[in-house]
Amino acid sequence: MEELLKVKDLKTYFYTYEGVVKALEGINLDIYKGESLGLVGETGCGKSVTALSIMRLIQWPPGKIIDGEIILDGKDLLKIPEEEMRKIRGSDISMIFQEPMSSLNPVFTIGSQISEAITLHQEVDKKEAEKRSLDMLDLVGMPDAEKVMKQYPHELSGGMQQRAMIAMALSCKPKLLIADEPTTALDVTVQAQILDLIQKVNKEIDSSMLLITHDLGVVAQVCSRVAVMYAGYIVEIGTAKQIFKNPYHPYTKGLMHAIPKIHVETKRLEVIRGVVPNLITPPSGCRFHPRCDHMMDVCKKKAPPTVKVEEGHYVACFLHGGVK
Ligand code: SF4
Repeated sequence: MEELLKVKDLKTYFYTYEGVVKALEGINLDIYKGESLGLVGETGCGKSVTALSIMRLIQWPPGKIIDGEIILDGKDLLKIPEEEMRKIRGSDISMIFQEPMSSLNPVFTIGSQISEAITLHQEVDKKEAEKRSLDMLDLVGMPDAEKVMKQYPHELSGGMQQRAMIAMALSCKPKLLIADEPTTALDVTVQAQILDLIQKVNKEIDSSMLLITHDLGVVAQVCSRVAVMYAGYIVEIGTAKQIFKNPYHPYTKGLMHAIPKIHVETKRLEVIRGVVPNLITPPSGCRFHPRCDHMMDVCKKKAPPTVKVEEGHYVACFLHGGVK
């Protein structure tokens, strides 16, 4: 498969009064053309910081990308001027958020916002931009799209706002769509519809997707590959089949056990003991060691290297390799 995005040794820190929050401690991941990669982990593990770093939207102060490379189609996004990056945002990479109102402007109609996004990145006149906006709203299954073009965001339901945001994000046919918890705020039925929609439209415009979620059910439904994050590290990455059927990392196994199983009667859901660590003073060595039932001496002293366990499947845990 052809590579679209390569993230290499990415480190992002936040300099706060309490100390330096080491939010990303050397992230490595690849996204291939046309695929959907799920990035999963508990709240606070660095998923959204990864997305904002790729978009170069980390605000200084307090946040800063301190090291690494983010290579999109051969170009290192960390080495280009902000003006060039602004053009890439919305044309080559688009992002959709959990909360549609963080992208939609309350004082402009839906039609004018999508049209503006189109004219900003494509050389088309106003009339053509309006036509494309309408086509986009149709594509995302917006009921009565012509009426919606003239409406303001507050006049739409949550599900419709989400559709409008997706239409806007995809209107320039980005190479990469980053979706950060896109359905968490919606009720279950709308959630399923929006997930179907994102998949369908993504396929139609042939873009790749980085889907960020804490919900493994969503990942199973949408993604072909999965990266598991814990406390600023990718601890395991592989195909969805490998991760769901044969997880190696104790943290991934814990996440899998925490999924309720419909056909199996269990007295209580197994949860991973302990809490996500404070990233100002993270645990030494493997950051998962205070919560791990397999912890060895070496785990407190050194961070485990990422090793290949089978084709396309990598894990960072001393149980599966690395010099102890
Ligand atoms: Fe557990 Fe050690 Fe593996 Fe970390 S490296 S997950 S502490 S066994």
